[in-house]
Amino acid sequence: MSIKSNLLEIKQTLPENVTLVAVSKTKPVSDLLEAYEAGQRIFGENKIQEMAEKFEEMPEDIEWHMIGHVQTNKVKFMASFVSLVHGVDSLKLLEEINKQALKNNRIIDCLLQIHIAEEDTKFGLDEAELNDLLNSETFKNLNNIKIKGLMGMATFTENQDQIKKEFLHLKSIFDKISVVNSDFTTLSMGMSGDYQLAIDCGSTMVRIGSSIFGTR
Ligand SMILES: *Cc1c(COP(=O)(O)O)cnc(C)c1O
Repeated sequence: MSIKSNLLEIKQTLPENVTLVAVSKTKPVSDLLEAYEAGQRIFGENKIQEMAEKFEEMPEDIEWHMIGHVQTNKVKFMASFVSLVHGVDSLKLLEEINKQALKNNRIIDCLLQIHIAEEDTKFGLDEAELNDLLNSETFKNLNNIKIKGLMGMATFTENQDQIKKEFLHLKSIFDKISVVNSDFTTLSMGMSGDYQLAIDCGSTMVRIGSSIFGTR
């Protein structure tokens, strides 16, 4: 199977309201170009350095999404071009993104990462921390970032019921905020192994790597 045929096959199964982020981390630029030639314009990377290098080499009409955990001291390397930062999980990080966005005279779109998995290792806020952040004075004064929604990763398990429960939990938090905040339009959940289930649970953005580019 080629990257192109994988991509087209996945796209056919996605509802119109669901955006596909092609997760190209660790893959060479030649693979990304193959996806680009097949029409893909949104790419997701999990390391800022790697994303910045690929940004330099790839065509300009690409949306670059940072899907990995972001270190505060690296924000400056992506602030001029990143389209959406998925994994924001602290006010401190948001403040830094805001600062670097301001320096670049931009508004940077972000998603807040919510911890829905059972594993301790996955980053993210719980619902109370999310509400504290959104209601804080500091947050309200950040004019160069916009929170467009939420992102989450389910537990790495074969248990579909568990994954579904976690996705529905995230969707319920998302729904509560989106009724009062019209900026909240994006719910980023679902990867190669679970994106169909994620879409059934209300995902509007799926992050798919290995099903497009092959195993890493
Ligand atoms: C790697 C990664 C993905 C894609 O995973 P696949 O299983 O290869 O589709 C999605 N989201 C995040 C946050 C990732 O790090």
